[in-house]
Amino acid sequence: MPEHPQIVFAGTDGGAVLDIDRYRAAGGFSALAKTRAMAPDDVIAELEASGLRGRGGAFFPTGRKWAFVPKPEALPKPHYLVVNADESEPGSFKDREIMLRVPFRFLEGCLIAAHGIQSQHVFVYIRGEYEREFEILRDSLEAVRKDDLLGGVTVVVHRGAGAYICGEETALLESLEGKRGQPRTKPPFPAIAGLYAAPTAVNNVESITTVTSVFELGAAEYAKLGVENSTGTRVFSLSGDVANPGNYELPHGISMRELVYDIGGGIANGRELKAVIPGGSSTSVLTADDIDVKMDFTSLVEAGSSIGSAGVIVIDDRCCMVQLGIRVSQFYEHESCGKCTPCRVGTKWVTQILEKIEDGRAAQADLDLLLSVCDRIMGKCLCPLGDSDAIAVLSYVDRFREEFQAHIDLGRCPFDGESSLEGILAPSAMHASQGHEAAHV
Ligand code: SF4
Repeated sequence: MPEHPQIVFAGTDGGAVLDIDRYRAAGGFSALAKTRAMAPDDVIAELEASGLRGRGGAFFPTGRKWAFVPKPEALPKPHYLVVNADESEPGSFKDREIMLRVPFRFLEGCLIAAHGIQSQHVFVYIRGEYEREFEILRDSLEAVRKDDLLGGVTVVVHRGAGAYICGEETALLESLEGKRGQPRTKPPFPAIAGLYAAPTAVNNVESITTVTSVFELGAAEYAKLGVENSTGTRVFSLSGDVANPGNYELPHGISMRELVYDIGGGIANGRELKAVIPGGSSTSVLTADDIDVKMDFTSLVEAGSSIGSAGVIVIDDRCCMVQLGIRVSQFYEHESCGKCTPCRVGTKWVTQILEKIEDGRAAQADLDLLLSVCDRIMGKCLCPLGDSDAIAVLSYVDRFREEFQAHIDLGRCPFDGESSLEGILAPSAMHASQGHEAAHV
């Protein structure tokens, strides 16, 4: 196995650090002290020099995002830092582990960010299902307060109610304001008119936690990690048909082969690798032939996918790609907030056409119709949710077209009930739609 030391998030012994004295003894809060001695503009400049880009999925430069927040003298309103801890992307489970294992690194990053954008108010919007994570954050925050480290900043940990769409930054802000969690039309962007129509920076948990490391190491040292355009380390959530699933913090630019085989122990149960989804369910699938792609922003775009949230889903040869499409589309259909028609109706249609193909009821024209519906969703929605469904399903058809064709030619699923996804699809997907599909599709 190659040497890939855990650099950013691990405690001193590689384990969880839930005691503030232990964290301080290991140098914790030194980055906060360092940044509080710096002018906010210098903090932002240092962060920009590190090349840190957002870990939530959009990969936008974090320093630039902070620089977009107007100075208090230019826009005299409260300034807010909102941390997106509503991790919900299927395949991604790294933020929860960061909060479970290194909550003080995360909170230190929050306070550094608050200083950088000159905010006195931090909201952490945490996924409602993350109960233990919430408790750990609450207790850690109390320890930070008792140690007098808040510096006048209030930090509120706010629990969400389980909607995937509240991971979209403006839907999150709506929800935080007590409204229905639906995306806003942009512009204005949150940097100018975010929470309570005031300047707001919205950052992901991993991004904020990495901020602490940037200031511990210094921007120049941090930028030496990883590769050009994707500096630093990344927590890859490895799941699916792999021997050793889990979260692995590794430098950007590691190859998918190293990640899946050397780190992840290869394909479980002696099966063959069929495909890999590299960045969470909303990213395009890659095939086993792409196994040597580098896990960084540019390399994955060149390979026809995206690093997304770095939720790496390994798929073996027992997986029916039509069933996978149904499962993914069911998720997006269920999580659509319903605000725009191409998403609300289109995701439902995509699911129904895929069910028809899986059930052996589809004609050749249905495959064309599936592609057409995806095309009518792409780029026509208010937020990326609709596109996510279309991008995923289009990639399954593009990379595994012969498998879709076999369903149509045979009039049944070629896996004959032996697919690894058999039995985990929602009941409505597999059979309930039979008999009235023509009314919809
Ligand atoms: Fe809502 Fe979907 Fe439109 Fe996003 S794309 S605003 S989730 S209906």
